[in-house]
Amino acid sequence: MSGRTRAGACPERTCVGCRDRAAKNDLLRIVVVEGVCVPDRRGTLPGRGAYVHPTRVCLDLAVRRRAFSRAFRGPGALDTTALRRFVEKGEQATP
Ligand SMILES: [Zn+2]
Repeated sequence: MSGRTRAGACPERTCVGCRDRAAKNDLLRIVVVEGVCVPDRRGTLPGRGAYVHPTRVCLDLAVRRRAFSRAFRGPGALDTTALRRFVEKGEQATP
């Protein structure tokens, strides 16, 4: 494993809200458990994941664009209440 370049050391994902690419670490992974969007902070939950900036702006964009339903190929609206609460709490914690 010698001569490894730095490229690819930091995997990128696309935010489903603003559609910008960002380092995976800067985005919040979302998974769906029984129709409810839940934040997967450690990125360890099984199943399909979607990535979004942990901000209300991007979350709102994602909800408005039905990005989660599309990302998870869900039949209808997904519950994002817990997700929103999580993001709002995180924003308050950041000075
Ligand atoms: Zn975003």
